[in-house]
Amino acid sequence: MYPNSKLLIDGELCEAECGSTYPDISPWNGKEIGQAADGSLADLDRAIAAARRAFDDSDWATDHAKRIAALRKYAEVLKANRQRFADLARDEVGAPGATIFSAACDAPLGMIDGWLDFAENYEWEQDIGTAEMFGMISRRKVWKEPVGVVAAITPWNVPNQINIAKVLPALAAGCTVVLKPAPETPMCGALMGELAVEAGLPAGVLNVITSGDAASVGAALVADPRVDAISFTGSTGTGKAIMASAAQRVAKVFLELGGKSASIILDDVEDFAGTVAGGAMVCFHAGQGCATITRLLVPRARHDEAVAILKAAFESIPYGDPDAPQIMGSLISKRQQERVLEYIAIGKAEGATLVTGGGIPADKTEGFFVEPTLFANVSNDMRIAQEEIFGPVLVVIPYDDDEDAIRIANDSQYGLSGAVHSSNMERALNIAKRIRTGTFSINGGMWYAGDAPFGGYKQSGIGRESGAEGFEEYLETKCVALPEPASA
Ligand code: ADP
Repeated sequence: MYPNSKLLIDGELCEAECGSTYPDISPWNGKEIGQAADGSLADLDRAIAAARRAFDDSDWATDHAKRIAALRKYAEVLKANRQRFADLARDEVGAPGATIFSAACDAPLGMIDGWLDFAENYEWEQDIGTAEMFGMISRRKVWKEPVGVVAAITPWNVPNQINIAKVLPALAAGCTVVLKPAPETPMCGALMGELAVEAGLPAGVLNVITSGDAASVGAALVADPRVDAISFTGSTGTGKAIMASAAQRVAKVFLELGGKSASIILDDVEDFAGTVAGGAMVCFHAGQGCATITRLLVPRARHDEAVAILKAAFESIPYGDPDAPQIMGSLISKRQQERVLEYIAIGKAEGATLVTGGGIPADKTEGFFVEPTLFANVSNDMRIAQEEIFGPVLVVIPYDDDEDAIRIANDSQYGLSGAVHSSNMERALNIAKRIRTGTFSINGGMWYAGDAPFGGYKQSGIGRESGAEGFEEYLETKCVALPEPASA
């Protein structure tokens, strides 16, 4: 059992005001791994006040060198605790071994130094030259300033990735942060708070409020007039609620929402079998990734061949051992397991062919597993092709020609990611240009990196995380004009 996790408010690790806690459940077996502080609205109020004070009354926002030095220390402490992040990813998130080396733990820890280097070298002031207006010449400067108090609201699928990718760039930009992790994964967030204290981050710059209630603390945080910007990753439905609430006071929002990403396999691809088998990567972390490829578009003439290849690949995926370097584990919760099974029932009712999987594995009565599941002969207007399932479920959709493939890939409310595979680079690039998504992979190219912007078109979100664009989400722009010559 893990010790009870704490809140971080104004530099102090503390229990929730009434001492309330709630159980943190392991996805592997449904058993409790420990208790987490169940933060209340009063705890949240104190956290926002602390973040506001740290922003308004200290030099955190203005002394860039001092702040980056403090964050370098924090980065060292975070990296030194890599094993604790890895253990929590396994025990709290249900992240299988192969994902620990990637988004569940090592990738985000590896991104921090790059973000801090970027912030350290950032040009906070630019001279855009002189201009004459109304008979007067002015020299104009563009200053970048931190946006203020940031609410970072994060989901349960890759909490270490998303907590780190919000907290570090926001702090590096000079903002102060209230982090509200998902109810299912409180300890990953609480560890960020505990280590902030160990690293000696100034009081109030980072606050962490965990809560067993999914909506009330998050909704209050979004609605609070002391919060300047909201950085949210989660479902499109919750993103819309957050945007509507933030609109009441025109607060800045960054939203990273759902996806239904398509990979187009062209008829000229060299290694057809190997490329098609890559569709089984939908099982990475049991499909609980917003940018996961969940629709595989194959030439109609080779549909059945592709399905046979995928069937073999899906049926050979090992899963269920928390300590093995596997790509697939359990779903996060009973609720999520039920949701995925419901979508599988919908797919069957819609007339798609269930090729393999589709249920709870017979040998896994504990935990929240769903078998690797493959649907074939799917038409893109079916709900299983349009809606985000967030489980190990791939739909195979046949297409007639390149135009048809582009039309199908774009026929989605989402626009997060996508892919194309072809031996003809010109053809692949032409398709890449026509797909309306925020990230895109050609022949397996990897866009996921700390210095690359990540985010979506359409209902997949607003704004970008990581890269220069991600850093600038946490900045405001001020244009300052002085008379020219300066003595005028
Ligand atoms: P899911 O339904 O898959 O759990 P959500 O998008 O609802 O995903 O959750 C992502 C994060 O948003 C979590 O931290 C959750 O507690 C929080 N959240 C849920 N509802 C709201 C809301 N109305 N306002 C703010 N945050 C919320």
